Amino acid sequence: MGVFEAIASDTHEEVLYGHDPVSGLRAIIAIHSTALGPALGGTRFFPYENEDDALRDVLRLAKGMTYKAAAAGLNLGGGKAVIIGDPTELGSERLMRSFGRVIDSLGGRYITAEDVGTTTDDMIAISSETKWVTGLPDVLGGSGDPSPATARGVMAAMRAVAEHLWGTDDLSGRTVAVQGVGKVGISLVERLTKAGAKTIVSDVNSASVEEATAQHGSIAAAVGDIFDAECDLFAPCAMGGALNETTVNRLRCQAVVGSANNQLETEAQADQLRERGILYVPDFVVNAGGIINIAEELNGYDWTRAASAIDHIYGNVNRVLDAAAHRGINPNTAAIAVAEERIASIGSINLKRRGHAS
Ligand code: NAD
Repeated sequence: MGVFEAIASDTHEEVLYGHDPVSGLRAIIAIHSTALGPALGGTRFFPYENEDDALRDVLRLAKGMTYKAAAAGLNLGGGKAVIIGDPTELGSERLMRSFGRVIDSLGGRYITAEDVGTTTDDMIAISSETKWVTGLPDVLGGSGDPSPATARGVMAAMRAVAEHLWGTDDLSGRTVAVQGVGKVGISLVERLTKAGAKTIVSDVNSASVEEATAQHGSIAAAVGDIFDAECDLFAPCAMGGALNETTVNRLRCQAVVGSANNQLETEAQADQLRERGILYVPDFVVNAGGIINIAEELNGYDWTRAASAIDHIYGNVNRVLDAAAHRGINPNTAAIAVAEERIASIGSINLKRRGHAS
């Protein structure tokens, strides 16, 4: 794949390659859009088969961040970075600091954070070279683990769905099936239990299931059976691609509201869910609590302010569901349209300010 061809196909603004032969750093930073503000997105450290795969992934992820930030109402754009290699073999302070200098060279147009394969310690190393980094620990003025913030956002989305479907945002007495009780899933189960809801959980890790059953009274389901669980809400909180043609047909819920990224195997599943009468709330609207939380670091982190910003997901979900109903389209397409309209509307102010528009 030619680099210029790849960048042009989704109108990315900029792609930067960073290299440090001493540490073995090979990094790509993709900035998809800065129309709403600096591009925020994590750094994925992964042993890609080849550079084309790495480029494809970083471009796809950067574009996804543009929509996530725009739909969350943040004044941020979308970007992402990848480092090619196995973090357990290649990871070092020198590599992360070299990468920090690459980020710094963008002068704040790209702000990084943790993602698959990178850790809080990596963010600390990067912060030695640039201030354009988030996801620092609490003791360094950062926001720490984003998972509770993400779970809080999922709860806000579930309450909005409850109001939409049942005329009350009270979740007591409702049953929620949670696929994956890792960091976000277990925090969600705890919150649901406190709100009076029943939970059915599954996880490939039996210790996580035991924690949910013992501490929160969840009912355990086998990994393969969670899609058949009779429930009000289904919450995918494990890996991406859980909802495919077969699993969507098995669902026995009224709505899907979960934290996992890229829940739909393809966009066709959004229509399939709609045809089955199941309300699908787009993952990037539901799971924005994490990014809203780290964005607060840019203003000097304060949990009370972050929590209040995360609760706006309730209104964001309402806006998307209203747009879907009004336009007669599925909520996924509606969320993308709402995000694109905000980017077009606000982005043009910035262009005028820079003197690029008539
Ligand atoms: P995690 O790794 O802590 O938890 C994922 C859990 O899913 C693990 O317990 C794992 O054993 C389980 N799992 C994997 N495959 C499964 C399967 N087939 N069936 C059932 N369980 C399975 O990750 P997390 O941080 O809790 O994130 C969960 C999801 O939410 C991911 O898709 C992640 O990308 C997304 N997300 C997380 C955050 C955050 O703040 N952590 C923010 C936005 C999106």
